Amino acid sequence: MAAYDVVVAGGGNAALCAAIAARSRGASVLVLECAPKAWRGGNSKYTRNIRVAHLDGDAVMPGAYSPQEFLSDLVRVTGKDLDQDLASYVVERSLDLPAWMSDQGIRWQPPLRGTLQLARTNRFFLGGGKALMNAYYRRAESLGIAVRYEAPVVELAFEGERCTGVVVAANGSSERVRAGAVVVATGGFEANIEWLREYWGDRVENYAVRGTAYNDGALLRVLLDLGAEARGNPRGHHAIAVDARSPKFEGGIVTRVDSVPFSIVVNIHGDRFADEGEDLWPMRYATWGGLIGAQPEQMAYSIFDSKVAGNFIGGAYPPLIANTVGELAQKAGLPVLRVEETVGEFNRSIVPGEYDPTRLDGCRTIDLSPPKSNWALPIDTPPYYCYPLIPGITFTYLAVAVDRAARVLRESGRPLENVYAAGEIMAGNILLRGYLAGIGMTIGTVFGVVAGEHAAGVRRG
Ligand SMILES: Cc1cc2nc3c(=O)[nH]c(=O)nc-3n(C[C@H](O)[C@H](O)[C@H](O)COP(=O)(O)OP(=O)(O)OC[C@H]3O[C@@H](n4cnc5c(N)ncnc54)[C@H](O)[C@@H]3O)c2cc1C
Repeated sequence: MAAYDVVVAGGGNAALCAAIAARSRGASVLVLECAPKAWRGGNSKYTRNIRVAHLDGDAVMPGAYSPQEFLSDLVRVTGKDLDQDLASYVVERSLDLPAWMSDQGIRWQPPLRGTLQLARTNRFFLGGGKALMNAYYRRAESLGIAVRYEAPVVELAFEGERCTGVVVAANGSSERVRAGAVVVATGGFEANIEWLREYWGDRVENYAVRGTAYNDGALLRVLLDLGAEARGNPRGHHAIAVDARSPKFEGGIVTRVDSVPFSIVVNIHGDRFADEGEDLWPMRYATWGGLIGAQPEQMAYSIFDSKVAGNFIGGAYPPLIANTVGELAQKAGLPVLRVEETVGEFNRSIVPGEYDPTRLDGCRTIDLSPPKSNWALPIDTPPYYCYPLIPGITFTYLAVAVDRAARVLRESGRPLENVYAAGEIMAGNILLRGYLAGIGMTIGTVFGVVAGEHAAGVRRG
Protein backbone atom coordinates (compact mmCIF):
# COMPACT_ATOMS: atom_id res chain seq x y z
CA MET A 1 0.00 0.00 0.00
CA ALA A 2 1.35 3.42 -0.95
CA ALA A 3 2.11 5.69 2.04
CA TYR A 4 2.82 9.43 2.32
CA ASP A 5 3.24 11.89 5.16
CA VAL A 6 0.53 14.07 3.68
CA VAL A 7 -2.21 13.18 1.21
CA VAL A 8 -4.07 16.09 -0.35
CA ALA A 9 -7.51 15.47 -1.86
CA GLY A 10 -8.28 17.98 -4.63
CA GLY A 11 -6.36 19.64 -7.41
CA GLY A 12 -7.24 23.34 -7.23
CA ASN A 13 -5.64 26.34 -5.56
CA ALA A 14 -6.11 25.29 -1.93
CA ALA A 15 -4.88 21.75 -2.64
CA LEU A 16 -1.72 22.85 -4.43
CA CYS A 17 -0.91 25.50 -1.81
CA ALA A 18 -1.28 22.83 0.88
CA ALA A 19 0.85 20.34 -1.03
CA ILE A 20 3.64 22.86 -1.69
CA ALA A 21 3.62 24.12 1.91
CA ALA A 22 3.77 20.57 3.29
CA ARG A 23 6.54 19.50 0.92
CA SER A 24 8.50 22.67 1.73
CA ARG A 25 8.48 21.48 5.36
CA GLY A 26 10.00 18.18 4.32
CA ALA A 27 6.91 15.96 4.12
CA SER A 28 6.34 13.42 1.35
CA VAL A 29 3.15 14.49 -0.42
CA LEU A 30 0.60 12.94 -2.78
CA VAL A 31 -2.06 15.04 -4.53
CA LEU A 32 -5.18 13.18 -5.64
CA GLU A 33 -7.14 15.13 -8.26
CA CYS A 34 -10.36 13.55 -9.51
CA ALA A 35 -10.34 15.41 -12.83
CA PRO A 36 -8.27 14.28 -15.81
CA LYS A 37 -5.04 16.24 -16.29
CA ALA A 38 -6.54 18.45 -19.03
CA TRP A 39 -9.28 19.58 -16.61
CA ARG A 40 -7.16 19.88 -13.47
CA GLY A 41 -7.30 22.99 -11.36
CA GLY A 42 -10.96 23.06 -10.29
CA ASN A 43 -12.65 26.43 -10.13
CA SER A 44 -9.27 27.99 -9.45
CA LYS A 45 -8.28 27.72 -13.11
CA TYR A 46 -11.03 30.23 -13.96
CA THR A 47 -9.99 32.91 -11.49
CA ARG A 48 -8.22 36.14 -12.27
CA ASN A 49 -7.28 37.75 -9.00
CA ILE A 50 -6.81 37.50 -5.26
CA ARG A 51 -7.72 40.11 -2.64
CA VAL A 52 -4.81 40.98 -0.33
CA ALA A 53 -4.13 43.60 2.30
CA HIS A 54 -1.00 45.64 1.68
CA LEU A 55 0.55 48.58 3.43
CA ASP A 56 2.15 50.17 0.35
CA GLY A 57 1.44 50.23 -3.36
CA ASP A 58 3.70 48.57 -5.93
CA ALA A 59 3.90 48.18 -9.71
CA VAL A 60 0.69 46.13 -9.95
CA MET A 61 -1.34 47.50 -7.01
CA PRO A 62 -1.57 51.23 -6.46
CA GLY A 63 -2.05 52.61 -2.94
CA ALA A 64 -2.45 50.85 0.38
CA TYR A 65 -5.27 48.54 1.52
CA SER A 66 -5.05 48.05 5.25
CA PRO A 67 -6.15 44.87 7.04
CA GLN A 68 -8.77 46.99 8.86
CA GLU A 69 -10.26 48.23 5.59
CA PHE A 70 -10.24 44.70 4.15
CA LEU A 71 -12.03 43.35 7.25
CA SER A 72 -14.60 46.11 7.22
CA ASP A 73 -15.31 45.49 3.48
CA LEU A 74 -15.80 41.82 4.33
CA VAL A 75 -18.18 42.46 7.22
CA ARG A 76 -20.13 44.89 5.03
CA VAL A 77 -20.99 42.17 2.52
CA THR A 78 -21.25 39.09 4.69
CA GLY A 79 -22.70 40.47 7.95
CA LYS A 80 -21.34 40.40 11.51
CA ASP A 81 -22.12 36.76 12.26
CA LEU A 82 -19.10 35.48 10.35
CA ASP A 83 -16.30 33.82 12.36
CA GLN A 84 -14.52 37.04 13.32
CA ASP A 85 -11.41 35.26 14.52
CA LEU A 86 -10.87 33.29 11.30
CA ALA A 87 -11.80 36.31 9.18
CA SER A 88 -9.21 38.51 10.95
CA TYR A 89 -6.66 35.72 10.61
CA VAL A 90 -7.21 35.44 6.84
CA VAL A 91 -7.00 39.19 6.39
CA GLU A 92 -3.78 39.48 8.43
CA ARG A 93 -2.12 36.55 6.67
CA SER A 94 -3.08 37.94 3.28
CA LEU A 95 -0.30 40.52 3.79
CA ASP A 96 2.26 37.74 3.18
CA LEU A 97 0.59 36.06 0.20
CA PRO A 98 2.08 38.02 -2.72
CA ALA A 99 5.63 37.19 -1.58
CA TRP A 100 4.81 33.53 -0.93
CA MET A 101 3.03 33.16 -4.25
CA SER A 102 5.83 34.91 -6.16
CA ASP A 103 8.26 32.43 -4.61
CA GLN A 104 6.22 29.60 -6.13
CA GLY A 105 6.49 31.14 -9.61
CA ILE A 106 3.25 33.13 -9.80
CA ARG A 107 3.54 36.27 -11.92
CA TRP A 108 1.38 39.37 -11.78
CA GLN A 109 -0.13 41.95 -14.04
CA PRO A 110 -1.84 45.30 -13.54
CA PRO A 111 -5.64 45.09 -13.76
CA LEU A 112 -7.28 45.69 -17.12
CA ARG A 113 -9.54 48.66 -17.69
CA GLY A 114 -13.10 47.94 -16.65
CA THR A 115 -12.33 45.68 -13.72
CA LEU A 116 -14.33 48.04 -11.54
CA GLN A 117 -12.59 49.41 -8.47
CA LEU A 118 -10.44 46.31 -7.88
CA ALA A 119 -7.09 47.82 -8.81
CA ARG A 120 -6.20 48.82 -5.24
CA THR A 121 -7.58 45.75 -3.47
CA ASN A 122 -6.99 42.78 -5.78
CA ARG A 123 -3.85 41.37 -7.34
CA PHE A 124 -4.21 39.95 -10.85
CA PHE A 125 -2.50 36.77 -12.06
CA LEU A 126 -0.55 37.16 -15.29
CA GLY A 127 -2.34 34.85 -17.72
CA GLY A 128 -5.26 34.28 -15.33
CA GLY A 129 -6.12 31.27 -13.18
CA LYS A 130 -4.97 28.71 -15.73
CA ALA A 131 -1.46 30.17 -15.70
CA LEU A 132 -1.59 30.31 -11.90
CA MET A 133 -2.51 26.64 -11.63
CA ASN A 134 0.07 25.62 -14.23
CA ALA A 135 2.71 27.48 -12.21
CA TYR A 136 1.67 25.68 -9.01
CA TYR A 137 1.73 22.28 -10.75
CA ARG A 138 5.18 23.07 -12.18
CA ARG A 139 6.37 24.00 -8.72
CA ALA A 140 4.87 20.83 -7.25
CA GLU A 141 6.65 18.74 -9.85
CA SER A 142 9.97 20.45 -9.18
CA LEU A 143 9.59 19.79 -5.45
CA GLY A 144 8.92 16.09 -6.04
CA ILE A 145 5.24 16.10 -5.08
CA ALA A 146 3.42 13.08 -6.53
CA VAL A 147 0.21 13.91 -8.43
CA ARG A 148 -2.43 11.43 -9.59
CA TYR A 149 -5.26 12.44 -11.91
CA GLU A 150 -8.65 10.74 -12.34
CA ALA A 151 -8.25 9.74 -8.72
CA PRO A 152 -11.42 10.64 -6.79
CA VAL A 153 -11.09 10.24 -3.03
CA VAL A 154 -14.26 8.56 -1.82
CA GLU A 155 -13.57 7.90 1.86
CA LEU A 156 -11.27 8.69 4.74
CA ALA A 157 -9.98 5.65 6.64
CA PHE A 158 -9.78 5.71 10.45
CA GLU A 159 -8.25 3.56 13.15
CA GLY A 160 -10.01 4.74 16.27
CA GLU A 161 -9.77 8.52 16.42
CA ARG A 162 -6.92 8.74 13.97
CA CYS A 163 -7.26 9.13 10.21
CA THR A 164 -4.92 6.65 8.59
CA GLY A 165 -5.39 7.59 4.98
CA VAL A 166 -7.86 7.73 2.13
CA VAL A 167 -9.71 5.43 -0.22
CA VAL A 168 -9.36 6.29 -3.90
CA ALA A 169 -11.70 4.98 -6.58
CA ALA A 170 -9.98 4.26 -9.87
CA ASN A 171 -10.82 2.05 -12.85
CA GLY A 172 -13.80 0.47 -11.15
CA SER A 173 -11.92 -0.61 -8.04
CA SER A 174 -10.81 1.09 -4.85
CA GLU A 175 -7.39 1.49 -3.37
CA ARG A 176 -6.16 2.58 0.05
CA VAL A 177 -3.38 5.10 0.46
CA ARG A 178 -1.86 5.52 3.92
CA ALA A 179 -1.23 9.03 5.21
CA GLY A 180 0.11 10.73 8.31
CA ALA A 181 -2.32 13.55 7.69
CA VAL A 182 -4.99 14.34 5.12
CA VAL A 183 -5.86 17.74 3.67
CA VAL A 184 -9.30 17.91 2.08
CA ALA A 185 -9.46 20.68 -0.53
CA THR A 186 -12.18 19.40 -2.82
CA GLY A 187 -14.33 22.53 -3.21
CA GLY A 188 -18.03 22.85 -2.50
CA PHE A 189 -21.00 20.97 -3.95
CA GLU A 190 -21.83 23.48 -6.68
CA ALA A 191 -21.66 20.91 -9.49
CA ASN A 192 -23.99 18.46 -7.72
CA ILE A 193 -27.39 19.37 -9.16
CA GLU A 194 -29.23 16.86 -6.93
CA TRP A 195 -27.72 18.35 -3.77
CA LEU A 196 -28.44 21.90 -4.96
CA ARG A 197 -32.05 20.84 -5.58
CA GLU A 198 -32.43 20.04 -1.85
CA TYR A 199 -32.11 23.76 -1.09
CA TRP A 200 -33.44 25.53 -4.16
CA GLY A 201 -35.81 23.02 -5.73
CA ASP A 202 -36.23 22.38 -9.42
CA ARG A 203 -35.16 25.88 -10.36
CA VAL A 204 -31.54 24.70 -10.29
CA GLU A 205 -32.21 22.84 -13.54
CA ASN A 206 -31.92 26.24 -15.22
CA TYR A 207 -28.70 27.26 -13.49
CA ALA A 208 -25.33 27.18 -15.20
CA VAL A 209 -22.42 25.83 -13.13
CA ARG A 210 -19.71 28.34 -13.96
CA GLY A 211 -16.78 26.27 -12.87
CA THR A 212 -15.59 22.70 -12.74
CA ALA A 213 -17.98 19.80 -13.23
CA TYR A 214 -15.99 17.80 -10.63
CA ASN A 215 -16.93 19.59 -7.40
CA ASP A 216 -19.74 17.27 -6.36
CA GLY A 217 -19.25 17.72 -2.61
CA ALA A 218 -18.62 14.00 -2.03
CA LEU A 219 -15.93 14.62 0.60
CA LEU A 220 -17.88 17.45 2.20
CA ARG A 221 -20.62 14.88 2.77
CA VAL A 222 -18.08 12.35 4.09
CA LEU A 223 -16.71 14.86 6.61
CA LEU A 224 -20.20 15.88 7.78
CA ASP A 225 -21.15 12.21 8.14
CA LEU A 226 -17.99 11.70 10.21
CA GLY A 227 -19.33 14.28 12.66
CA ALA A 228 -17.61 17.43 11.41
CA GLU A 229 -19.50 20.52 12.51
CA ALA A 230 -21.38 22.18 9.67
CA ARG A 231 -20.71 25.89 9.34
CA GLY A 232 -21.74 28.55 6.90
CA ASN A 233 -25.06 28.79 5.22
CA PRO A 234 -26.44 25.67 3.55
CA ARG A 235 -28.58 27.84 1.29
CA GLY A 236 -25.83 30.41 0.79
CA HIS A 237 -24.01 30.45 -2.48
CA HIS A 238 -22.08 32.68 -4.79
CA ALA A 239 -24.15 32.96 -7.93
CA ILE A 240 -23.99 35.65 -10.55
CA ALA A 241 -25.73 36.72 -13.73
CA VAL A 242 -24.34 34.82 -16.69
CA ASP A 243 -25.33 34.89 -20.32
CA ALA A 244 -28.31 32.62 -20.93
CA ARG A 245 -26.41 31.05 -23.84
CA SER A 246 -23.70 29.70 -21.48
CA PRO A 247 -22.85 25.99 -21.37
CA LYS A 248 -24.20 24.01 -18.40
CA PHE A 249 -20.70 23.48 -16.93
CA GLU A 250 -17.26 25.07 -17.19
CA GLY A 251 -18.32 28.33 -18.87
CA GLY A 252 -15.63 30.03 -16.81
CA ILE A 253 -15.16 33.76 -16.51
CA VAL A 254 -16.22 34.78 -20.03
CA THR A 255 -19.91 34.02 -19.56
CA ARG A 256 -20.24 36.64 -16.81
CA VAL A 257 -22.34 39.69 -17.73
CA ASP A 258 -21.31 42.97 -16.10
CA SER A 259 -23.88 45.29 -17.70
CA VAL A 260 -26.32 45.04 -14.77
CA PRO A 261 -25.42 48.25 -12.84
CA PHE A 262 -25.55 50.30 -16.04
CA SER A 263 -28.84 48.82 -17.21
CA ILE A 264 -32.29 47.95 -16.06
CA VAL A 265 -33.01 44.26 -15.60
CA VAL A 266 -36.47 42.84 -16.35
CA ASN A 267 -37.98 39.39 -15.99
CA ILE A 268 -39.89 37.46 -18.65
CA HIS A 269 -42.95 39.64 -17.94
CA GLY A 270 -40.99 42.83 -18.64
CA ASP A 271 -40.97 43.91 -14.97
CA ARG A 272 -37.99 45.11 -12.98
CA PHE A 273 -37.41 43.22 -9.73
CA ALA A 274 -34.28 44.59 -7.99
CA ASP A 275 -32.13 47.70 -7.51
CA GLU A 276 -29.49 47.37 -10.23
CA GLY A 277 -27.41 50.20 -8.73
CA GLU A 278 -27.57 49.29 -5.06
CA ASP A 279 -23.81 49.26 -4.48
CA LEU A 280 -20.51 48.96 -6.31
CA TRP A 281 -20.55 45.92 -8.57
CA PRO A 282 -17.83 43.93 -6.71
CA MET A 283 -20.05 44.18 -3.60
CA ARG A 284 -23.22 43.02 -5.33
CA TYR A 285 -22.49 40.92 -8.41
CA ALA A 286 -22.60 37.67 -6.42
CA THR A 287 -26.20 38.26 -5.35
CA TRP A 288 -27.61 38.55 -8.85
CA GLY A 289 -27.66 34.81 -9.51
CA GLY A 290 -30.01 34.40 -6.54
CA LEU A 291 -32.17 37.34 -7.63
CA ILE A 292 -32.57 35.94 -11.14
CA GLY A 293 -33.07 32.44 -9.74
CA ALA A 294 -36.16 33.69 -7.89
CA GLN A 295 -37.75 35.00 -11.13
CA PRO A 296 -40.10 32.99 -13.35
CA GLU A 297 -38.21 30.50 -15.50
CA GLN A 298 -35.00 31.86 -13.87
CA MET A 299 -34.55 34.24 -16.79
CA ALA A 300 -33.86 37.96 -16.89
CA TYR A 301 -32.80 40.55 -19.43
CA SER A 302 -30.32 43.41 -18.98
CA ILE A 303 -31.38 46.36 -21.17
CA PHE A 304 -29.23 49.44 -21.81
CA ASP A 305 -28.46 51.99 -24.48
CA SER A 306 -25.46 53.18 -26.41
CA LYS A 307 -24.51 55.82 -23.80
CA VAL A 308 -23.25 53.19 -21.36
CA ALA A 309 -22.26 50.39 -23.73
CA GLY A 310 -18.54 51.09 -23.23
CA ASN A 311 -18.67 51.19 -19.43
CA PHE A 312 -18.01 47.48 -18.83
CA ILE A 313 -16.20 44.58 -20.49
CA GLY A 314 -18.51 42.48 -22.66
CA GLY A 315 -18.70 38.72 -22.34
CA ALA A 316 -18.23 35.87 -24.80
CA TYR A 317 -21.61 36.36 -26.45
CA PRO A 318 -22.71 39.48 -28.35
CA PRO A 319 -25.71 41.43 -27.00
CA LEU A 320 -28.95 41.64 -28.95
CA ILE A 321 -29.06 45.02 -30.71
CA ALA A 322 -32.01 47.07 -32.01
CA ASN A 323 -32.87 50.63 -32.96
CA THR A 324 -35.93 50.87 -30.71
CA VAL A 325 -36.78 49.47 -27.28
CA GLY A 326 -39.81 47.70 -28.81
CA GLU A 327 -37.73 45.99 -31.47
CA LEU A 328 -35.22 44.93 -28.79
CA ALA A 329 -38.00 43.44 -26.65
CA GLN A 330 -39.32 41.57 -29.68
CA LYS A 331 -35.88 40.14 -30.47
CA ALA A 332 -35.56 38.99 -26.86
CA GLY A 333 -39.02 37.39 -26.93
CA LEU A 334 -40.30 39.79 -24.25
CA PRO A 335 -43.77 41.44 -24.09
CA VAL A 336 -43.13 44.56 -26.19
CA LEU A 337 -45.69 46.93 -24.65
CA ARG A 338 -44.75 46.05 -21.08
CA VAL A 339 -41.03 46.54 -21.72
CA GLU A 340 -41.73 49.92 -23.36
CA GLU A 341 -43.81 50.88 -20.31
CA THR A 342 -41.11 49.74 -17.88
CA VAL A 343 -38.43 51.72 -19.72
CA GLY A 344 -40.75 54.78 -19.89
CA GLU A 345 -41.54 54.62 -16.13
CA PHE A 346 -37.85 54.24 -15.36
CA ASN A 347 -36.81 57.16 -17.59
CA ARG A 348 -39.44 59.46 -16.06
CA SER A 349 -38.38 58.66 -12.48
CA ILE A 350 -34.71 59.65 -12.82
CA VAL A 351 -33.33 62.54 -10.76
CA PRO A 352 -30.71 64.41 -12.83
CA GLY A 353 -27.19 64.01 -11.42
CA GLU A 354 -23.54 63.68 -12.34
CA TYR A 355 -23.13 60.22 -13.84
CA ASP A 356 -19.86 58.50 -12.92
CA PRO A 357 -19.49 54.75 -13.54
CA THR A 358 -16.43 54.52 -11.27
CA ARG A 359 -18.09 55.51 -7.97
CA LEU A 360 -21.44 55.51 -6.18
CA ASP A 361 -22.70 58.54 -8.10
CA GLY A 362 -26.16 58.93 -6.56
CA CYS A 363 -27.77 59.21 -10.02
CA ARG A 364 -31.02 57.61 -8.92
CA THR A 365 -34.73 57.23 -9.36
CA ILE A 366 -37.52 58.57 -7.15
CA ASP A 367 -40.96 57.06 -6.58
CA LEU A 368 -40.03 53.91 -8.45
CA SER A 369 -40.26 50.43 -7.02
CA PRO A 370 -37.77 48.88 -6.90
CA PRO A 371 -35.55 51.96 -7.02
CA LYS A 372 -32.28 52.26 -8.87
CA SER A 373 -29.89 53.96 -6.44
CA ASN A 374 -26.91 54.78 -8.63
CA TRP A 375 -26.00 55.05 -12.31
CA ALA A 376 -29.59 55.74 -13.37
CA LEU A 377 -29.50 57.37 -16.81
CA PRO A 378 -32.48 57.48 -19.20
CA ILE A 379 -32.49 54.63 -21.71
CA ASP A 380 -33.11 56.80 -24.75
CA THR A 381 -30.17 56.68 -27.14
CA PRO A 382 -30.12 54.00 -29.85
CA PRO A 383 -28.89 51.50 -30.57
CA TYR A 384 -30.38 49.59 -27.65
CA TYR A 385 -28.81 46.43 -26.25
CA CYS A 386 -29.94 43.38 -24.32
CA TYR A 387 -28.18 40.45 -22.67
CA PRO A 388 -30.38 37.46 -21.74
CA LEU A 389 -29.37 36.24 -18.27
CA ILE A 390 -29.60 33.09 -16.16
CA PRO A 391 -28.09 32.31 -12.74
CA GLY A 392 -24.55 30.99 -12.84
CA ILE A 393 -23.52 29.26 -9.61
CA THR A 394 -19.88 29.73 -8.63
CA PHE A 395 -19.62 27.99 -5.28
CA THR A 396 -21.60 27.03 -2.20
CA TYR A 397 -21.30 28.30 1.37
CA LEU A 398 -21.95 25.12 3.35
CA ALA A 399 -18.69 24.31 5.09
CA VAL A 400 -16.97 22.22 7.71
CA ALA A 401 -15.82 24.09 10.80
CA VAL A 402 -12.06 24.57 11.12
CA ASP A 403 -9.71 26.19 13.59
CA ARG A 404 -6.78 28.50 12.86
CA ALA A 405 -4.62 25.46 12.07
CA ALA A 406 -7.21 24.40 9.43
CA ARG A 407 -8.04 21.31 11.50
CA VAL A 408 -11.57 20.07 10.93
CA LEU A 409 -13.67 20.53 14.08
CA ARG A 410 -16.24 18.07 15.28
CA GLU A 411 -19.63 19.06 16.64
CA SER A 412 -18.15 18.63 20.11
CA GLY A 413 -15.66 21.39 19.23
CA ARG A 414 -12.76 18.93 19.37
CA PRO A 415 -10.64 18.77 16.22
CA LEU A 416 -10.19 15.70 14.08
CA GLU A 417 -6.54 15.35 14.98
CA ASN A 418 -4.95 14.92 11.59
CA VAL A 419 -7.62 15.97 9.07
CA TYR A 420 -7.43 19.47 7.61
CA ALA A 421 -9.68 21.40 5.26
CA ALA A 422 -8.86 24.31 2.97
CA GLY A 423 -10.59 26.35 0.29
CA GLU A 424 -14.25 26.38 -0.64
CA ILE A 425 -14.95 23.41 1.61
CA MET A 426 -14.32 25.65 4.67
CA ALA A 427 -14.92 29.12 3.18
CA GLY A 428 -18.40 29.17 4.74
CA ASN A 429 -16.77 29.83 8.14
CA ILE A 430 -16.19 33.30 6.77
CA LEU A 431 -18.67 33.69 3.92
CA LEU A 432 -22.27 33.35 4.99
CA ARG A 433 -23.87 35.54 2.39
CA GLY A 434 -22.73 38.12 -0.10
CA TYR A 435 -19.21 38.02 -1.49
CA LEU A 436 -16.17 40.23 -1.73
CA ALA A 437 -14.45 39.83 -5.11
CA GLY A 438 -11.17 37.95 -4.80
CA ILE A 439 -11.65 36.58 -1.29
CA GLY A 440 -12.26 32.99 -2.43
CA MET A 441 -8.62 32.77 -3.44
CA THR A 442 -7.49 34.57 -0.27
CA ILE A 443 -9.24 32.04 1.95
CA GLY A 444 -8.00 29.10 -0.13
CA THR A 445 -4.41 30.29 -0.24
CA VAL A 446 -4.16 31.22 3.44
CA PHE A 447 -5.77 28.01 4.67
CA GLY A 448 -4.08 25.90 2.02
CA VAL A 449 -0.67 27.02 3.26
CA VAL A 450 -1.70 26.73 6.92
CA ALA A 451 -3.15 23.24 6.38
CA GLY A 452 -0.05 22.07 4.54
CA GLU A 453 2.32 23.44 7.18
CA HIS A 454 0.43 21.85 10.07
CA ALA A 455 -0.17 18.57 8.23
CA ALA A 456 3.57 18.30 7.61
CA GLY A 457 4.10 18.47 11.35
CA VAL A 458 2.04 15.32 11.97
CA ARG A 459 4.17 12.16 11.93
CA ARG A 460 2.98 9.23 9.87
CA GLY A 461 1.32 6.62 12.07
C1 LIG B 1 -15.58 31.42 -13.29
C2 LIG B 1 -15.04 31.64 -11.91
C3 LIG B 1 -14.26 32.76 -11.66
C4 LIG B 1 -13.78 33.00 -10.37
N1 LIG B 1 -12.96 34.08 -10.18
C5 LIG B 1 -12.41 34.28 -8.96
C6 LIG B 1 -11.42 35.30 -8.77
O1 LIG B 1 -11.01 36.00 -9.70
N2 LIG B 1 -10.94 35.46 -7.51
C7 LIG B 1 -11.34 34.67 -6.45
O2 LIG B 1 -10.90 34.86 -5.33
N3 LIG B 1 -12.23 33.66 -6.63
C8 LIG B 1 -12.75 33.44 -7.85
N4 LIG B 1 -13.61 32.38 -8.04
C9 LIG B 1 -13.86 31.47 -6.89
C10 LIG B 1 -12.64 30.56 -6.76
O3 LIG B 1 -12.54 29.80 -7.92
C11 LIG B 1 -12.74 29.63 -5.56
O4 LIG B 1 -12.99 30.33 -4.39
C12 LIG B 1 -11.41 28.88 -5.40
O5 LIG B 1 -10.91 28.48 -6.63
C13 LIG B 1 -11.60 27.68 -4.53
O6 LIG B 1 -10.44 26.90 -4.55
P1 LIG B 1 -10.50 25.41 -4.05
O7 LIG B 1 -9.13 24.89 -4.18
O8 LIG B 1 -11.20 25.33 -2.76
O9 LIG B 1 -11.50 24.68 -5.09
P2 LIG B 1 -11.26 24.27 -6.60
O10 LIG B 1 -10.28 25.12 -7.28
O11 LIG B 1 -12.62 24.16 -7.23
O12 LIG B 1 -10.61 22.84 -6.49
C14 LIG B 1 -11.32 21.72 -6.05
C15 LIG B 1 -10.63 20.51 -6.64
O13 LIG B 1 -11.07 19.33 -6.02
C16 LIG B 1 -11.21 18.31 -7.00
N5 LIG B 1 -12.11 17.33 -6.41
C17 LIG B 1 -13.43 17.45 -6.15
N6 LIG B 1 -13.88 16.33 -5.54
C18 LIG B 1 -12.81 15.50 -5.40
C19 LIG B 1 -12.62 14.22 -4.83
N7 LIG B 1 -13.61 13.54 -4.25
N8 LIG B 1 -11.38 13.66 -4.88
C20 LIG B 1 -10.34 14.32 -5.46
N9 LIG B 1 -10.47 15.54 -6.01
C21 LIG B 1 -11.68 16.13 -5.97
C22 LIG B 1 -11.70 19.04 -8.22
O14 LIG B 1 -11.45 18.33 -9.41
C23 LIG B 1 -10.88 20.32 -8.13
O15 LIG B 1 -9.63 20.18 -8.75
C24 LIG B 1 -14.09 32.10 -9.32
C25 LIG B 1 -14.85 30.96 -9.58
C26 LIG B 1 -15.31 30.72 -10.86
C27 LIG B 1 -16.12 29.47 -11.13
